[in-house]
Amino acid sequence: MRIAIISDIHGNYSALEQVISDIDQQNIDEIYCLGDIVGYGPSPNECVAYVQERASVSLLGNHDAVAIDRDNIETFNTYAKEAILWTRKELSAKSKNYLSNLKMTHHALNLTYVHSSPLKPEEWTYISTIHVAMEQFSHFPGQVCFVGHTHVAIILAQDQFLNKGFRSESVSFEDKERYIINVGAVGQPRDYNPKASYGILDTEKNHFEYRRIQYDIQKTQNLMEKAGLPMYLIDRLTDGR
Ligand code: ZN
Repeated sequence: MRIAIISDIHGNYSALEQVISDIDQQNIDEIYCLGDIVGYGPSPNECVAYVQERASVSLLGNHDAVAIDRDNIETFNTYAKEAILWTRKELSAKSKNYLSNLKMTHHALNLTYVHSSPLKPEEWTYISTIHVAMEQFSHFPGQVCFVGHTHVAIILAQDQFLNKGFRSESVSFEDKERYIINVGAVGQPRDYNPKASYGILDTEKNHFEYRRIQYDIQKTQNLMEKAGLPMYLIDRLTDGR
């Protein structure tokens, strides 16, 4: 089976559209979404509707949780807060209903999928240091755990590569190795590559590859400006920081 794994769309419909159109050319069987469909971006309802239509597995992200008032907004910085307050007003009852039914984790074929981290996913831990990553490896049963949340596309291997994360366009899973793979962000990449990021998992070939997709950044920025969203959030899309 070939699974396209998307995450952190953040209301960026222009990016999502391009990613799905690429997915449609990659012989994909299913789409999994690891959360944060909304927050930051100008088109939350459109993104929720598209994910609802296309994703067979869809998980809750921290921005989704705050958008439906399930989590405390005080955990957010000024920009995230401002954007999520705007998002709350914007979200339709239908979108809110969809978000409120999302689950935290998914396990299938000895693989784990979660927005933030396998250990206490509701605490929204950022796997952004080797130390945190090493702790997480004992909290999922199988060979690979797929995450989003940091918006940085990176592959972390437990033993190989001296426990260092490696940036690579693809990885073939080795039998005795275990991995945490961050699929990167569709709607707000933060790894200095402004292109939308997602990944393709091939469960028969035991292989994962990244795809980076060019989209109309200006279009999203114009919509953000019209919506009165913070300039900092608009600017960061230009260089993916
Ligand atoms: Zn996010």
